[in-house]
Amino acid sequence: MTTTPNPAEPPSVEVMYCRRCRRAVNTRTGPSGVTYVHAVEVRGETVDHRPDPAPVTEISDPLIECDFCSAPDAAWIYRCADQRTDVRRVTARVVDAADYQARHHAARTRRTETEHGITQAWGERWSACAGCADLIEARDLYGLIRRVVEAMPAKLTRGNRLVRVRGHLHDTYTAVFDTLAPGRGRIEPGHPLGVWPAPPEGAP
Ligand SMILES: [Zn+2]
Ligand SMILES: [Zn+2]
Repeated sequence: MTTTPNPAEPPSVEVMYCRRCRRAVNTRTGPSGVTYVHAVEVRGETVDHRPDPAPVTEISDPLIECDFCSAPDAAWIYRCADQRTDVRRVTARVVDAADYQARHHAARTRRTETEHGITQAWGERWSACAGCADLIEARDLYGLIRRVVEAMPAKLTRGNRLVRVRGHLHDTYTAVFDTLAPGRGRIEPGHPLGVWPAPPEGAP
């Protein structure tokens, strides 16, 4: 009974991968319908082709990278509430801004990007490498943000951009941490969605 999804939630997003490069693809919805973008492009890398999306279960030997720091060979799958971000304006529904300010002694710059009205669906599943998983297990939000920022291309974190990037990550990861489901699945060959431990009998 503990895993019954909230019926008010939008239908969950299927985990999609690209047939060409076998890497993860993110789903976006906008005025022109559903579009796809390589997950690594969302994290600032460039890819030389358009995604050719298919459910991950239809991709043989997908390259499962860490959804946080992009490291290859993600080891774990975490599940949390599906999260949608308006790409034009980052929603901050779960951000504890006071906490952020108290820790950093600076007001957070809340910028809005002037892109089209596109919604990024992050989906319910997040893959994590061993290093990021350690920080997730410890619920170390700031440690995770630091690790991800350090792994990003320098051009994305130069000067004022660093503030914005940290703000995005803080919003997104706070929602991940707040809605994290118990347990995690271990990624194994043939099990791109993770092998999950059986829930204990009579769990509340
Ligand atoms: Zn591709
Ligand atoms: Zn990672």
